[in-house]
Amino acid sequence: MNTELTDAGTAFTDQPFHVMTKPIGPICNLDCTYCYYLHKEELYPRGNKWKMTDDCLESYIAQYIRSQPPGTSEITFAWQGGEPTLLGLDFFERCVEIQQKHERRGMSISNTLQTNGVLLDDDWCRFFLKHRFLIGLSIDGPADLHDEFRVDHQGAGSHSRVMAAMRKLRKFGVEYNALVVVNRHNGAHGGRIYRYLRDAGCRYVQFIPIVEKQGIGRHAETDAPLTGFTAFDKAQSAVSSRSVLPEQFGQFLIDVFDEWVQRDVGRVFVQIFDQALSAWVGVEPSLCVFRRTCGRALAMEHNGDVYSCDHFVEPEHLLGNVNVIPLEELVNSGQQQAFGDAKLETLPQYCLDCEVRHACNGECPKNRFLMTPDGAEGLNYLCAGYRAFFNHIDGPMQKMAQLLKQRRSPALIMEAARGKHTPGRNDPCPCGSGRKFKSCCQKNGS
Ligand code: SF4
Ligand code: SF4
Repeated sequence: MNTELTDAGTAFTDQPFHVMTKPIGPICNLDCTYCYYLHKEELYPRGNKWKMTDDCLESYIAQYIRSQPPGTSEITFAWQGGEPTLLGLDFFERCVEIQQKHERRGMSISNTLQTNGVLLDDDWCRFFLKHRFLIGLSIDGPADLHDEFRVDHQGAGSHSRVMAAMRKLRKFGVEYNALVVVNRHNGAHGGRIYRYLRDAGCRYVQFIPIVEKQGIGRHAETDAPLTGFTAFDKAQSAVSSRSVLPEQFGQFLIDVFDEWVQRDVGRVFVQIFDQALSAWVGVEPSLCVFRRTCGRALAMEHNGDVYSCDHFVEPEHLLGNVNVIPLEELVNSGQQQAFGDAKLETLPQYCLDCEVRHACNGECPKNRFLMTPDGAEGLNYLCAGYRAFFNHIDGPMQKMAQLLKQRRSPALIMEAARGKHTPGRNDPCPCGSGRKFKSCCQKNGS
């Protein structure tokens, strides 16, 4: 067992790990134009049944529970697709049954499920609520933005069906995250999308940039992976026309942040802002893309094949199959540690010298296909956007980090952000609780 310390000071094998499981492979009831996963059908032979067998499911669940590092008190199973609800409710009832059979004393088990929402009905919602599933609902904004790419197999937009699913989740009290894919089409509408989701009642929001590198694939004659780095100022030429532009993504996040920091801190949770606040407080972000190293977020196919990461479901990143090699061995293998360490080892000097490296860490290696302005390889395509965004939020983040260190509510930042004075004792509390300031944040130490 490799016990070498990572840069974060914890042995690789002692860090919790996470597996994104695809029990139905890439099969989906929508046909979103930018879906990176649909072409994975090519990885498995024709006639392949895209459904995890009961034996494989039980073996995986038992191993996932057993192989967590000692002292792990909470674990999460993450179900993704394709569209996992196509497997039917029976499949997930069985998952919960197996989890209960194998759970360890003192360990709490939870589940997340990513869905396009199209199939959600009352039965699904009752089940999610009963077993405390956290649902990730894909929505790219209002209809004119969402329906550009999120279409069904007949080419019809899916927005009204997704919003119906959101209403149903809310009616039943199921916890959900809105997951927005930021692309070239909706990328100029950060503020509008954020307000739309907030006003529709979303409390948790994630933004995922779509970056489709042109020429990804394999050389026709040699079968070698296509690589190559693009000059920093030619970034646009390296990606598809659907991909968000670096500066566009930065401005998108800035627009959302400026709205959020004035009125929604403590009420709406935007994943990248939470991650950034960790970095400003001095705690390494939990999301792999913003950590110095990665390698603890793996992906598993419907047949038990485990890959280094969801973004590297490719033959050269196949670690093995859980039905043949124990999951613990795959997760802690030298191959996997090398994969995770490469995130830091390949970071160009340009990033090492960057003033916002503590929050960005060069983001995901999947997107590192630019050359730095001084010609070194391996700069992230989104660099210009991240740099603008992280610099923009530096002031408010410093203030929020300071408030947290003083055990005061970061929501107090909102007054400063709006350029107003501290509220009076009987004024509504700026954190949005609906209570008076004196019986809320002021009482709690402000
Ligand atoms: S390659 Fe990217 S997405 Fe995959 S684990 Fe590393 S940082 Fe995360
Ligand atoms: S903002 Fe750019 S230079 Fe700075 S760490 Fe991120 S990718 Fe590197």
